[in-house]
Amino acid sequence: MARCTSCSAPLPANTNCCNYCNSRSDVDLHAKHPYRVEKSATHRICPNCDKPLQTIRLKMADPLAIERCHTCFGLFFDRGEIETVLQSSVSNVFDINREHIDNINKDRYPKQQKIRYLKCPDCRKHMNRVNFGQRSGVVIDQCIIHGIWLDSGELTHLLEWKKAGGQLLQQEQAADLEKQRQQQQNALPGAASDYSFNSNGGFSGTVEESLLETVARLLDKLF
Ligand SMILES: [Zn+2]
Ligand SMILES: [Zn+2]
Ligand SMILES: [Zn+2]
Repeated sequence: MARCTSCSAPLPANTNCCNYCNSRSDVDLHAKHPYRVEKSATHRICPNCDKPLQTIRLKMADPLAIERCHTCFGLFFDRGEIETVLQSSVSNVFDINREHIDNINKDRYPKQQKIRYLKCPDCRKHMNRVNFGQRSGVVIDQCIIHGIWLDSGELTHLLEWKKAGGQLLQQEQAADLEKQRQQQQNALPGAASDYSFNSNGGFSGTVEESLLETVARLLDKLF
């Protein structure tokens, strides 16, 4: 359990704000990743607080500079940097613990949260909301050009998801789908060329039914 960095009281789940002293803690980096705050200023702005972000140098095999808001402790990663952090922080995962993966997500999102669109810290355009790794349960904010914003706590969630085998599960599912797709194609020679998207954005073509059934069956297996 994370503790308040000011008074050491245990922090409730899903928040970085202490019930006792009201101060916020960096639940993602404090006592988890060695890092150093750089003096150089950045022009990037926190999408939650509208304040300039700090540059944080993470000590890793290949040191990495990310940005952090000193008020809400959200983090901004340039493209590809989150993958590097996940890879260097969590390795040797060979088992998939589906129950744990589901619990991690339930703990984090007990109720429905209001959807808000944040502005990119760099270009200030609205970012896209994307489920990281398709099913991680962490909805991240992404600027296609500049990178990914994580609210405080989301990096920890992603690391737990990966430790529980979430990324393995994702790869497994992608491989399964690909295999099914190829089997369908082999079973129906020439079917691939019959694919087309109709004007409603749906599939049309001879393999539509069987493909949908396959996906439905796969989803059934998962839940
Ligand atoms: Zn406190
Ligand atoms: Zn902030
Ligand atoms: Zn941007």
